[in-house]
Amino acid sequence: MGRRKSKRKPPPKRRAIEPLDSQFTCPFCNHERSCEVKMDKSRNSARITCRVCMEDFQTTINFLSEPVDVYNDWIDACETAN
Ligand SMILES: [Zn+2]
Repeated sequence: MGRRKSKRKPPPKRRAIEPLDSQFTCPFCNHERSCEVKMDKSRNSARITCRVCMEDFQTTINFLSEPVDVYNDWIDACETAN
């Protein structure tokens, strides 16, 4: 009797338009994918930097955080500042 190979479910389809990576549109200069997120999970911190206008933002993360969370934090912080 062979072990039944558990079929791995295919991953849920991601939105094709927005690839889930760590590059986002800058809220300051509006350059697309100019903002890069660097996650430092060992320090629970992340930094997002725009390589066009050099704006940056640092926030705390947890082990569940994704680059998009850092980006959303940034957007929130921008809106709070305005
Ligand atoms: Zn920028």
